[in-house]
Amino acid sequence: MDPFERQMQFVFTLRSRGVTNAEVLKAMEATPRERFLEGIFQDRAYEDTPLPISCGQTISQPTVVGLMTQALEITRRCKVLEIGTGSGYQAAILARLARRVYTVERHRRLARRARELFLDLGLHNVTVVHGDGSLGLPEQAPFDRIIVTAAAEDAPGTLIEQLRENGIMVLPVGQSHSVQQLIKVVKTAQGLEYTELGAVRFVPLVEGVAQDVLD
Ligand code: SAH
Repeated sequence: MDPFERQMQFVFTLRSRGVTNAEVLKAMEATPRERFLEGIFQDRAYEDTPLPISCGQTISQPTVVGLMTQALEITRRCKVLEIGTGSGYQAAILARLARRVYTVERHRRLARRARELFLDLGLHNVTVVHGDGSLGLPEQAPFDRIIVTAAAEDAPGTLIEQLRENGIMVLPVGQSHSVQQLIKVVKTAQGLEYTELGAVRFVPLVEGVAQDVLD
């Protein structure tokens, strides 16, 4: 399949699975997923499936990335926090829609690789922080939007505190290693509004910074 045809097929698949927002589709089209993968997995970059990345983690399924991004309702004025940089693919898409993106990763090697990629792709409004994302990023709070791309048992209170009023947070919640529910939380003056968006499967949110041997 030639690259143009492959791209058409990719967008068609996203649309047919519910990613219909034109801005989100444009941002995804402009983001070369193969650059976020290594070795043999690059050939499968345009399949709608999660794939392995280093440190035993995974790049999310494109449809899930699209649906989460869409649910965030990002505008050009938004300052966004992502927990779980992984490959950097989700953050790269956020960077095309938002004013500023901060993304936190507990594996130093993944954080470093994502940083290099963003430079290479000319994405200068995204900052990668190596640290424990379960604590959020208090020094940059509050955020207009927060996205968590690793599963916690519950919406972490620390992150909710760092969300601005009328802000939106999207995250998978449920037992790690099983199926989780993707939820959208809107922080209003009256309290929190929750909407369930569907079943997903993410790697677990792990507290603390990873102690990798080979960094
Ligand atoms: N958004 C990624 C996919 C995320 S995979 C992408 O687009 O490729 C989930 C990532 O969350 C993994 O890289 C994992 O190391 C990271 N993670 C898990 N717990 C974390 C924590 N407490 N703080 C920061 N990152 C964490």
